[in-house]
Amino acid sequence: MTGIVIFVGAGPGSADLITLRGARHLAAADVVLFDALTDPALRDFAPQARWIDVGKRGFCDSAGQATIDALLVRHAREVKVVVRLKGGDPSVFGRLEEELEALGRAGVPCEVVPGVTAAAAAAADTRRPLTRRGSGRSVALSTAMTREGDLVGDRRADTEVFYMAGKQLAKLARRLQDAGWPADAPVSVVSRAGWTDGLASEHRLADLPCAAVLHAGRPTVVTVGAGARPVAHAPQSASLDRPQALVQTRAT
Ligand code: SAH
Repeated sequence: MTGIVIFVGAGPGSADLITLRGARHLAAADVVLFDALTDPALRDFAPQARWIDVGKRGFCDSAGQATIDALLVRHAREVKVVVRLKGGDPSVFGRLEEELEALGRAGVPCEVVPGVTAAAAAAADTRRPLTRRGSGRSVALSTAMTREGDLVGDRRADTEVFYMAGKQLAKLARRLQDAGWPADAPVSVVSRAGWTDGLASEHRLADLPCAAVLHAGRPTVVTVGAGARPVAHAPQSASLDRPQALVQTRAT
C-alpha cells in the first residue's frame, strides 16, 4: 500500500490563517511533518496524527533536505495520509521542488494546498496593497540570498518583496540602490507578519539599515517600491485582538 502526501500551506502566522482545505486535510492525517515556522496551535486540527518536527536547525542544509525527502517517502509507504505542513505557501521558497521530485521518483501521489505567503500577510498587516492602479502593475517575490550565499538586489518589478533578507538589511539597501532604486524609495519591513506580535516599520531605502535592530532574530520580509507606500488617508487598524505595532522611521 502507498499512501498520499499532501503539501499544506500553513500560512505565515497564527493558526487561523490556514485554509479550510488545509485544515480538512490535517483532520485526516496519520502523520504530519512540520516546519519550524508553523503555529503549534495547528496541532489541535490533527490530534490523531503523529507530529514530526523536521524544521530543526541542521535540517536546513542539503543533507537535511535528503533526510526530509526520505522521511516523506517512508511514511507515505506506511500510512494512508501524510501531511507535509509548510510555513506560508508551499510554492514560495519552500523547497517544494525537491520534495515533489523525491515523491515522483518513489511513485508516491501528491497534492498541494496553497497557503497565505508572508508577502501577502505583510501587505495585510500594514494595509498596503502590493499592486496599485496606475503605479504598481507588477510584484516580484525574491530571495535576497543566492544558493552560494551572495546577496542580490533587483529592480524588476514595481513592487519587490524580499524574503530571507532580515540579517543583511544594510547590504540589501546598498545592492538595491546599485540596481537603480532611488535612495528615497519607500520600504516597508514586517516581521512575524500574521502573528499577534507582528512588527512593521517604514523607511526610505537609504535608512533601511535602521530596521535591523527592531526586527532582529524574527522572520522578516522587506517590501520596496509601490507596494510599500502607505495608502492616502489610511484607516487605523481595526483588529482589536492584534495590537500590532507600526514603527515609523523616516529620513528628515
Ligand atoms: N513559504 C514561506 C516562505 C519560507 S522562506 C511563505 O510563503 O511565506 C522563510 C522566509 O519567509 C523568512 O526568512 C522570511 O523572510 C519569510 N517569512 C516567513 N514567515 C514570515 C512572517 N510571519 N513574517 C515575515 N516574514 C516571514
